[in-house]
Amino acid sequence: MKKLPPSRQQVARQRQKYEETPRLKICENCEHYRSTFVETEWGGYEEKLRRCTLGGFAVKRKSSCAAHEFRSLCAQGG
Ligand code: SF4
Repeated sequence: MKKLPPSRQQVARQRQKYEETPRLKICENCEHYRSTFVETEWGGYEEKLRRCTLGGFAVKRKSSCAAHEFRSLCAQGG
């Protein structure tokens, strides 16, 4: 079966390095991010004590900084 040439949109996406689901540089997926899960009174778990082990300060999951390093996908459970 003959392969069709890429469409104009496919070519434009490749040229722009379009990412449908980009992996953003955020604390949550950073090598230096640590947190603790504590059990709630309802039996669930809540993430607490979000810290940057590099700088030793409190962080938010969706924050970022120039020292970000992606954690391996295995360490993130995916
Ligand atoms: S503050 Fe920077 S180095 Fe620390 S966890 Fe967040 S992105 Fe990573």
